[in-house]
Amino acid sequence: MLTINADRLWRTLMRSAEIGPGVAGGLKRLTLTPEDGEVRDQLKAWAAEDGFAVTVDGAGNMFVRMEGASDGPPVLIGSHLDTQVTGGRFDGILGVLGGLEVLRTLKDLGHVPKRPIEVVNWTNEEGARFSPPMMASAVFCGVETLDWLYDRVDDDGVRLLDALEAIGYRGEAPVGKPVDAYFELHIEQAPELYDEGIDIGVVTAGYAVRGLLIRFTGETAHTGPTPMDRRKNAIIGASYGAVATNEVGHAYAPLGKATASRLVAWPNKPGILSSFAELTVDVRHPETEAADRMRDEILARIAEGAEKAKVKWEVVSTWTYGEERFDPALVDLYRQAAKGLGLSQKDMMSQAGHDAYYMSRVAPTAILFSPCIDGITHNEAEDITPAHATNATNVLLNAVVARADRD
Ligand SMILES: [Zn+2]
Repeated sequence: MLTINADRLWRTLMRSAEIGPGVAGGLKRLTLTPEDGEVRDQLKAWAAEDGFAVTVDGAGNMFVRMEGASDGPPVLIGSHLDTQVTGGRFDGILGVLGGLEVLRTLKDLGHVPKRPIEVVNWTNEEGARFSPPMMASAVFCGVETLDWLYDRVDDDGVRLLDALEAIGYRGEAPVGKPVDAYFELHIEQAPELYDEGIDIGVVTAGYAVRGLLIRFTGETAHTGPTPMDRRKNAIIGASYGAVATNEVGHAYAPLGKATASRLVAWPNKPGILSSFAELTVDVRHPETEAADRMRDEILARIAEGAEKAKVKWEVVSTWTYGEERFDPALVDLYRQAAKGLGLSQKDMMSQAGHDAYYMSRVAPTAILFSPCIDGITHNEAEDITPAHATNATNVLLNAVVARADRD
């Protein structure tokens, strides 16, 4: 079995952890901010040190390439370097920098793969600044258009295209190309592996996810003199929706989860009723039909709440992913690699979103999990040990090489 340079991987992760620090030891590296630009520049510099070419596509996705003995579609390894507002140092980052370590290791060994291998850093996996999440891999896979991506706007009214150009990462390459296979390493983001003391999670499938962005429209009015029965407060319509979402989540627990994660309103000032509110809802369930049912129940209750609040409502956007099944041959490569390395492993489902879901629509795809301490994530306290990183990246290395070198 091949093994990586564990110290170099950890040093690389710790260098990334210096770029865009949060306030409590984690990271605040929102997509397409100057901090994101800085970590992208660092990735480019690392690639250049080892003579790996870097290509950037029109969505800002970055591809670090190791040439193979023959040409043809590359074996792709990837994840993301952007983070949440209270992000950790490893969510997504381990997948990109673990991929870089795979290339570096092969170079050290003088191992030229049969097929080229590329490492991708996807733009805006998190969806924390521009909604929805995973939008650049969605465009890469033909689920959304590039113009749609360019037109997304953040809370300050900045258009995604302008943010992309401001950090110099609107690339020339077309978005989307043939790929031989897609491998993604990610921290688990739940406590199962850590609690059970298992080294490796082999992800066979995901929870079905249904996302909704809902807009409520009311009328501004004075909070004092306006009679209760004449009010059209958008905040109230959205709040009924938020509470209903939470109640549906409890009704389907523990398998089902429903979250009202974001509520914005305008003018959102004391002394005035809001004429505008937007609510973000997401629903997750291991069974597709149940996820659809949860979404439909939430929509029905949103309609009731809007009527009570006397506000209009509409679904502004929706997103769907997660029920894709991962490629059995790739899943087996992870299992074989973990076995060969003497690591404990278990099959599991992913409850979080990953670019791999979209990639699975265009190429054989599979995700690999490493444990994370206590399952803490999307939190600055998110942490892993060097052994977690090393074990998982060793599995990634051997699985990727087996794929790239096959006949
Ligand atoms: Zn992530």
